[in-house]
Amino acid sequence: MPHLQEILPKLVSSLAARSDRGSVATYIPELAKVDPTKFGIAVATLAGSVVAAGNADELFSIQSISKVFTLALALGKCGDMLWTRVGREPSGNRFNSIVQLEYEKGVPRNPFVNAGALVVTDSLLAGHEPREVIGEILRFVRFLADDDTISVNRAVAASEQSTASRNMALAHYMHSFGNLQHAPQRVLGTYVHHCAIDMNCRQLAAAGLFLAAGGRNPLTGHSVISPLRARRINALMLTCGHYDASGDFAFRVGIPSKSGVGGGILGIVPGVASVAVWSPGLDSSGNSHLGTIALEELVQAMDWSVFAPRAHA
Ligand code: GLU
Repeated sequence: MPHLQEILPKLVSSLAARSDRGSVATYIPELAKVDPTKFGIAVATLAGSVVAAGNADELFSIQSISKVFTLALALGKCGDMLWTRVGREPSGNRFNSIVQLEYEKGVPRNPFVNAGALVVTDSLLAGHEPREVIGEILRFVRFLADDDTISVNRAVAASEQSTASRNMALAHYMHSFGNLQHAPQRVLGTYVHHCAIDMNCRQLAAAGLFLAAGGRNPLTGHSVISPLRARRINALMLTCGHYDASGDFAFRVGIPSKSGVGGGILGIVPGVASVAVWSPGLDSSGNSHLGTIALEELVQAMDWSVFAPRAHA
């Protein structure tokens, strides 16, 4: 098998030469300031090594990747009852679409579209203040990555909050169906703060490793969730992690992954590794353009697709 230490720097230099980098998200003004030439990648393996290249130590806004962590927390809190409020099907619609919600009576298709993530955040608020829940999510992410320096970028949270009319509309709409139990303002305030967590590729790869290892972080030895729950979250990442481009991502890359409009992608290779890649330019579906290409090439080189007909060791 080729070595990650050779592949990752090669990927960084071949992608640095590309002029098609996508466009940075501008609807959150703070994200529009990010340098589009940045590119980082890190792979954390079950065997305990972390290999990184490019701008893998620079912080970026994890945005929707945080939805994987809030889902794991909410399932711990509500168990399978959560699935009475949010579905498990790909949406085939944009990440912030409202149209499907009307047809489906305020029950979002899955926990990774914005409406679904707002329901997940609402479930975490039961019996708690927004600041307590933001603290709980942050502690969980720090625990997963084994890194207490991880924090919320207040400027990004405030920036999103000031332009969040559409997410607010989604929240109000679900509230009207009785599928939000807290005031839309409180749910949205909590949501924008967990989306505004800053991490670098090394931290993110380490934080995702429990999903590659049946729910237990092999770097720390901590048990996080059950093997069944890890398998199910991976299934949702594969089918719904890239919004209306999830099918195309499975076709091109073939591993469970979750993207964020900050340009990050967390990819899971069950039984083998967790990969974090960051390139701020997005494609038309809101997923990192070069990040997707990087994962496509890495998975191909390592033969890591979950659809490959052999053991991934
Ligand atoms: N906070 C972003 C929003 O709600 C997350 C979207 C994403 O990363 O895809 O629009």
